Amino acid sequence: METVKIIDVTPRDGLQDASGYVPVSEKIALIEGLLKAGVRSVEVTAFVRPDWIPLLADADPLVDQLRHLDGEWIALVPNERGLKRAISAGIPAVTLVASASESHNKSNLNRSRVDTLAALARVTELAHQAGMQVKGAISTSFSCPFEGEIPTKDVLMVAEAYLRMGVDAIGIADTMGTANPAAVKERVKELNTVRGKVPLSLHLHDRFGWGLANVAMAYEYGVREYEVALAGLGGCPYAPGAAGNLDTEKLVEFFIAQKIFIPIDLNLLAATRVRLLSVLSRKLAAPVMDEN
Ligand code: ZN
Repeated sequence: METVKIIDVTPRDGLQDASGYVPVSEKIALIEGLLKAGVRSVEVTAFVRPDWIPLLADADPLVDQLRHLDGEWIALVPNERGLKRAISAGIPAVTLVASASESHNKSNLNRSRVDTLAALARVTELAHQAGMQVKGAISTSFSCPFEGEIPTKDVLMVAEAYLRMGVDAIGIADTMGTANPAAVKERVKELNTVRGKVPLSLHLHDRFGWGLANVAMAYEYGVREYEVALAGLGGCPYAPGAAGNLDTEKLVEFFIAQKIFIPIDLNLLAATRVRLLSVLSRKLAAPVMDEN
């Protein structure tokens, strides 16, 4: 039976920009809720400098508390230092990031694309030695807050660098939420010519309500992995004006309506969303961080 892989990124992309603090216990409840609903793959956090994204500063204790749960946990790592933390935390899969746009890459990661990709080759090697799965994600695959529309050849350049490193999957991300079906088709078709059997995933933000039209086009051209977030939460701290992620429930319903098998319980997903939104609505203050 035809199916697709749903990767929920709520705990990372959905919450990294949230206006209220979410305690670790509530993040665990969120991840448990997703798992119970049938979402097995969850991007649970990012191993980035805590002062860069304070809402993800709890990555180590969070992952530690997920050990007893049987899901496919993924963490975003920007560099070798992040990878080392991910390895000691015991996470089985990592997502690396480089931008198709040179200026977004510099703003997000503080270095050029070429330097980022050279460093990520080493990160991929180390991750593989540690037995981890590696996805190479390409942010600003459609447009960039500084450069506007991004040409497909730039996306292809980054994808080819990832493929040379031997990543296990590649992902294109519409960081700004401006993708449209024609642009999705162009990028997916180009990537299909180089990726062989390496899976391609699509990470959409949904600025104009075109998200599901983009998914329909991507599906038509063979994309079988989608990254989404509950309640369409999320943004990007380094992309001013970025829109929220494509909504997990909307995506699951969209596929179920087309008789594409998704073993996910929509009622349990809704209950998980309601609980998370009630925590966010309380706008909790973050505890003061230890300066040491
Ligand atoms: Zn995103």
